[in-house]
Amino acid sequence: MQVLKFGGTSVGSADNIKRVISIVKEKSGKDKTIIVVSALGGTTDALLNSGLMAAGGNEQYKEELQHIEQRHLDTVKLLIPVQQQSSILSMVKKLCNDIEDICNGIFLLGEFSARTRDRMVSYGELISSQVIAAAFNSAGVTAAWKDARTLIQTNANFGNAMVNVAATRKQIKDYISTCKESLVIVPGFIAADANNETTTLGRGGSDYTAAILAAATDAATLEIWTDVSGMMTADPRWVSSARVIPSISYQEAMELSHFGAKVLYPPTIQPVLRKAIPVVIKNTFAPHDAGTIIQQKAAANGNPIRGISSVSNIALFSLEGSGMVGVPGFSRRLFEALSEAQINVILITQGSSEHSICVGVEAASIHKAKAVVDAEFEHEIAVEKVQPLLVETELSIVALVGEKMKSHPGTSGKMFGALGRNGINVRAIAQGSSERNISAVVATKDVRKAINVLHEEFFETTNKQIHLFIAGTGNVGSKLLQQLQQQQEWLAKHLRLNVRVTGLANSRKMIIDDKGIDFNQWPEKLQGGEEADIEAFVNIIIGKNFRNAIFADMTASDAVAKVYDRLLQKSVSVVACNKVAASSSYAYYRELKDLARSYNCLYLFETNVGAALPVIGTLNDLMRSGDKINRIEAVLSGTLNFVFNHYKGEVSFAKVVKQAQEEGYTEPDPRLDLSGTDVMRKILILARESGEQLEMEDITCNSFLPESCMHGDVKAFYKEMERQEPHFKKLYDAAAAANSKLKFVAKFEKGKAVVGLEHISPQHDLYHLYGKDNVVLFYTARYPSQPLVVKGAGAGAEVTASGVFADIIRATAS
Ligand code: ADP
Ligand code: ASP
Ligand code: MG
Repeated sequence: MQVLKFGGTSVGSADNIKRVISIVKEKSGKDKTIIVVSALGGTTDALLNSGLMAAGGNEQYKEELQHIEQRHLDTVKLLIPVQQQSSILSMVKKLCNDIEDICNGIFLLGEFSARTRDRMVSYGELISSQVIAAAFNSAGVTAAWKDARTLIQTNANFGNAMVNVAATRKQIKDYISTCKESLVIVPGFIAADANNETTTLGRGGSDYTAAILAAATDAATLEIWTDVSGMMTADPRWVSSARVIPSISYQEAMELSHFGAKVLYPPTIQPVLRKAIPVVIKNTFAPHDAGTIIQQKAAANGNPIRGISSVSNIALFSLEGSGMVGVPGFSRRLFEALSEAQINVILITQGSSEHSICVGVEAASIHKAKAVVDAEFEHEIAVEKVQPLLVETELSIVALVGEKMKSHPGTSGKMFGALGRNGINVRAIAQGSSERNISAVVATKDVRKAINVLHEEFFETTNKQIHLFIAGTGNVGSKLLQQLQQQQEWLAKHLRLNVRVTGLANSRKMIIDDKGIDFNQWPEKLQGGEEADIEAFVNIIIGKNFRNAIFADMTASDAVAKVYDRLLQKSVSVVACNKVAASSSYAYYRELKDLARSYNCLYLFETNVGAALPVIGTLNDLMRSGDKINRIEAVLSGTLNFVFNHYKGEVSFAKVVKQAQEEGYTEPDPRLDLSGTDVMRKILILARESGEQLEMEDITCNSFLPESCMHGDVKAFYKEMERQEPHFKKLYDAAAAANSKLKFVAKFEKGKAVVGLEHISPQHDLYHLYGKDNVVLFYTARYPSQPLVVKGAGAGAEVTASGVFADIIRATAS
């Protein structure tokens, strides 16, 4: 004996039913076969919907019924040769008339009782099974049809009936022993109580029907044919990289289905487990895929976790109060009250202090739960021994399932670490004593992200998916995009990272694409995007709630610098080449660092000083290892260096600045560089990273730029510089006379920072600097006289982009 069950999609159309017939033909040999079928996919919902409409006085139920009838008639016409159609068509019409009669009754009474509901939805399977039986026969495969209501007896718990195992077993055995056909088609889902009233086994219950038949007939196997190639590591609708679990134990399958893996109706396992009948989940649309085998012992695969699932629509309530401590009977009273009110408890946690018990129930029953528990503890609440129930809604449970968890320390650490790093707040935790399952209650808005985070953590030894959002597509931003594209393969191969640019914005436009923006087409895509609005961009990033999210600020904008706090609070790491935030008020700088720490993400800005040179990283390393900074001396402006290295008093100073700007070495307004403001920002950042609480106003700037250059726009500035050429020439000549070079030097010592132009003689460490080089000398407790020197190109789009790139990669490890 073998039992095969075909679900709603598998029998959802004439073509699909033809597939089913050919699968069965291939499988049925000498062995007797029972085929359990669902209603045509969607029919149960449509029937329920018609009943609800009728009960609500909405006459559109007639149209809905019309659709149901038409769909079935069409299926028959496509499935069965014309000569044999008439009796089947009239069966369909007759049953559809019955449905209409029931619905008319519901409409008149305005009532849709659980009993009527079961009668109503039973027609889905009643019709489908008879149509399918006829299709088998007309395809030359002789098949009997047997009404499940004469085989499976239940109590009268309509909507979720419990099977009377003894009566059912006997009825099934009797029938099978007398049945001549080797193939029997049985409607799933439906049954009857002792008074022959139609009952159903709960939504998805056809799986259960099949399991009951398999157990009663001691079948060799039970095959569940559905629309996916097996039980998967996570719900494939939510996790695109979910994969089929080849082998799983009964217990694990049961846990996964209890915690929301819809592919198997939870009660299905129990009957087959007792008889040790193996269950195979197969795909009707890929019948040669191996599928999942569910049996006593699953094959080991080295992973303590077998799968991840989730249940939404959960509510939590907590019973709290000092009056509970050490008093026996509190929990008994609580759970009895819930059980009497038929409230299903999904999860329980109790702290060892016994100060509170936290219970998870279906959201739909939370009001009832609150009412009965408040009533039960009315007295204790009145005398303030216990507080009125605290209720939280819009929650979901995510569960890790795996039998091997118990012998594998660190699983929960890994689980909660991954959730924490991604800013997912866990409201309650439960671990069954079987240690087959760890469940966490999270906000429903986070559940999809949570499953993906956990799936990546436990199953994707391959690649980690990074969601990168970039603001700014100017020189540096576009170079970064180019470098990311070039490195895609390398990152995947060596770091197992897929860096996907999910969002892109510049000052004009913005786009978001969950699947990643094509590196080859970003300019056109962005052009066709929405009007840019940084606040809206951030709202989308937060709203999308992606895991492993990183925001890269490639602008020089104040507005963009202001959004970092909101992002960090959502555990989105921020990588900035924009210096505004780190050099703004100390309070904001501190807040950003603290936020990053408390929300388990990173705020990185290595390129704020010396582009990609490892300046901040080196300073951080010195500090972390306990060194003390005595003094920092640095030439930090690639721009000023370029300018003073090129200016010899021959070509005008203004022209040299212009050249620097054209070669991309200056800020959009070169005055930021020339006035020393940019250098001030950099030394401020270094001072702060050295542990000093400095503000911009605390820095002394000995500017060499005449005051008159600071007015008007950039054009006016160039003009004024030309006028001031003698001033610049004088500066140069004085230095040359002293056999020195002009360098714009930044210093930090004993809590004070100063920037300004200096004469540097050839013996000095700062002398030999060429092009746009920067140099930073760290004099520290461990490097007292010979400084630690960091030197090299400190400006330019290519290197700056590469520094941001490196920070992004650092942030992926957070
Ligand atoms: P049927 O109608 O064949 O009974 P169901 O819709 O009840 O099919 O169940 C199959 C569906 O279950 C799949 O299409 C899939 O979307 C969903 N599903 C949810 N979780 C899982 C999981 N862990 N593994 C496989 N499928 C899952
Ligand atoms: N047709 C029923 C449902 O949709 C039972 C089943 O398909 O398993 O819930
Ligand atoms: Mg199902």
